[in-house]
Amino acid sequence: MLKISYLVSGGIITNYICSSKCRHCSYSSSPKWPDDYMTPSMADDIFSILKSLGCFSVHIGGGEPLLKPDKILDVLEVARRNNIKIEYIETNASWYRDEGSTTAVLKELKDHGVHTLLISIDPYHNEYIPFWKVKALIQACSKAKMKVFPWQIEFWNDLDAMDDRILHSFDEYTQLFGQDYPLKLLKRYGINLKGRALKTYKSMMKKQPFERILEESKPCKLLSGIYHFHVDLYGSFIPQSCPGFSIRLKELVHGADPDKYRIFNSLESIGIRGLVQLAKKEYGYIPKAEYAGKCDLCYNIRNYLVLELGLDLPDLKPEGHYKYV
Ligand code: SF4
Repeated sequence: MLKISYLVSGGIITNYICSSKCRHCSYSSSPKWPDDYMTPSMADDIFSILKSLGCFSVHIGGGEPLLKPDKILDVLEVARRNNIKIEYIETNASWYRDEGSTTAVLKELKDHGVHTLLISIDPYHNEYIPFWKVKALIQACSKAKMKVFPWQIEFWNDLDAMDDRILHSFDEYTQLFGQDYPLKLLKRYGINLKGRALKTYKSMMKKQPFERILEESKPCKLLSGIYHFHVDLYGSFIPQSCPGFSIRLKELVHGADPDKYRIFNSLESIGIRGLVQLAKKEYGYIPKAEYAGKCDLCYNIRNYLVLELGLDLPDLKPEGHYKYV
């Protein structure tokens, strides 16, 4: 049985749709996703399960959770009814239009128990959001006494070296800071190389022979990690550091059937070797000679199952993770 008896810390994903399509996004969020948001009744189910597992506070992420601020207020209300504390809401500041409308949103958030915004500051976001909006949102937060968790402050000077009124491409950053800027950024940011981040960096990663990857195969234990999990708007548990997998949270509490979640189970119990065996035997997967590591191989198989074979597998959800990368 795949079972979780307690959870320490995590977040909820209220929507996958986003104003941006950042290169480092391990969730593969973008404007192409369906315009779906977490409903109050789903939030109620999720919060009551989290409480039963000993988790009494969460952060809120996306997508861009404040894309439509109205959509989040009901979720916040349900959190309050369930005595779930909101640690912070992540935002990219794209929704900033002017001081008046922003102050009104911040006031609503504060009235609903939100006291901190995590605001994205990095060159990836700057391809889609001009820096002036980030600065203006920080200023509005300061006036409204909303705390700011700048993520990450170390990129402030990089962004500030550009004209903050307009967007800046990755090429511009590379021209200014050198050809190795994208690779340096990978380490400075601490990027999780999954989803679109893997797509962005794959060509820069060292290739490994298929057989060697199998020799080094170990169970992917983070899949059942309890420290940085997420639960999405569809009620699915999204494992720490590996988006694109999901198990219904309700089922996980009582013990999810490993025969239903075979992909997940093969990786969690055996590792990439288990997934390769399953994919070859059951789905006719033909491996290539080499990959940019085990996660590239894992994605190659998952893309084959979801996009090429068009399979509706309960553990490879949401499909948008694969479709909109
Ligand atoms: S091999 Fe797959 S399940 Fe394991 S860490 Fe990489 S992406 Fe996650």
